[in-house]
Amino acid sequence: MTTVPRLVCASANPDKVAEIEAILAGVVELLPRPASLPDVVEDAETLEGNARLKAAAVCEATGHAAVADDTGLEVAALGGAPGVRSARYAGEGCSYADNRRKLRREMDGRADRRAAFRTCVLVRYPDGSEVVVDGVCEGTIVDDERGDGGFGYDAVFVPDDGDGRTFAEMSDAEKHSMSHRGRAFRNLLAALTA
Ligand code: IMP
Repeated sequence: MTTVPRLVCASANPDKVAEIEAILAGVVELLPRPASLPDVVEDAETLEGNARLKAAAVCEATGHAAVADDTGLEVAALGGAPGVRSARYAGEGCSYADNRRKLRREMDGRADRRAAFRTCVLVRYPDGSEVVVDGVCEGTIVDDERGDGGFGYDAVFVPDDGDGRTFAEMSDAEKHSMSHRGRAFRNLLAALTA
């Protein structure tokens, strides 16, 4: 008899957890992050480094395998920025709206609008071994914000695989059928069942 692997989810964000649960359903049992665990300072220089900090902290605290993800928006005309600094692009404690405003300002008048969201997913086991996968969604940055859904940079990002709408104009299911995070967790599923 094969047993379903159990992973503690390093994220406590309910939207993310629901999406990860939906993708891994039946293959991986996702356990919630213990509420008593302090937040991890995400100060690594790469997405993989930040995912490792989060997964290792939860793995050490619980003694169970843990899964963590980290995402960045890489804009070609800005040399890959904001990248690993996507959450605090406009400064410490800034809001999603502040970040979008700064991005639109930096992109003002630029012809090259290409960008990609990248998600790194990392599973850390108690023996120190790891599974690392990523997921990429290519697209363009638009001048004006469109749509009320999603979060972060969704209102200014149009994925190449869509029909011209921003992520914020799509349902969650539509977004995640082509999103970086959806792709990364489907890649994880493939790696765990290979
Ligand atoms: P995290 O690593 O998932 O916390 O993502 C870091 C930052 O990237 C977030 O604070 C958001 O600004 C941005 N971000 C991550 N995922 C998405 C997404 O799916 N859409 C839009 N922005 C995102």
